[in-house]
Amino acid sequence: MKKLLIISSMLLTCVYGIGQTPQTTKPAPLKFPEPEKMTPGMTEIWEPEVKIIQPGVTNSDASSDAIVLFNGTDVNAQWTDIQGNPSKWIVKDGALVSVRGAGYIKSKRKFQNFQLHIEWKTPSEVTGESQGRGNSGVFLQELYEVQVLDSYDNRTYRNGQAGSIYKQYPPLVNVCRKPGEWQTYDIIYTAPTFGNDSTVYATPPRVTVLQNGVLIQNNVIVRGPTEYIGIPEYFIRRHGPGSIELQDHGNPVGYRNIWIREL
Ligand code: MG
Repeated sequence: MKKLLIISSMLLTCVYGIGQTPQTTKPAPLKFPEPEKMTPGMTEIWEPEVKIIQPGVTNSDASSDAIVLFNGTDVNAQWTDIQGNPSKWIVKDGALVSVRGAGYIKSKRKFQNFQLHIEWKTPSEVTGESQGRGNSGVFLQELYEVQVLDSYDNRTYRNGQAGSIYKQYPPLVNVCRKPGEWQTYDIIYTAPTFGNDSTVYATPPRVTVLQNGVLIQNNVIVRGPTEYIGIPEYFIRRHGPGSIELQDHGNPVGYRNIWIREL
């Protein structure tokens, strides 16, 4: 052992010299280039330029990229009855008016994601109460109803009044005008998606509604197709694009200025 220590000492002396001890050299700290000073232009995106469209004269009029679904004159240009035959709804004073017993009408074109503008008017002559007064509805993709109802001084269940996603979400506020006055819905709809082998939503439908310019449904998650009795089905028919449907609920409700923008 003593011999081994002497040999080690001799070796170190040879390598470092007498009186020197081994030293570890500290690496110089890394130097990175100074980051370039941010300027306003660095976060500006110029291309491609945002598509230019022309707005309507008023917010009720179609923008230049909208599809007009009713222009005040011809029912059959864009609509059929539910079987695909000419509709029995009538045009009166520039409005498309439901006829008791004529059934729902549906748009000839089908849509996926969209912004829909539609104006509606319940009869000025008030008859009936609750769900029996000025009832109609706007069905999105033929499955999800935004309720149309005379909800001016007319109590009914809150998730069935005007502006409700029927039996799912009441409107945030009741902003209804008097019966006989025109009202607007602006509806933004995001269609559901489905997995490859699934009949449940991968992502459910979502709906935003403004009534008379006021937000009444804020991006709500639709639970399933509208049901009158019972809760929405969990397993549903897979579906793609669908028509806009307008409901005949036995009351003469008028519609006008119907236009849609595909998103
Ligand atoms: Mg209805």
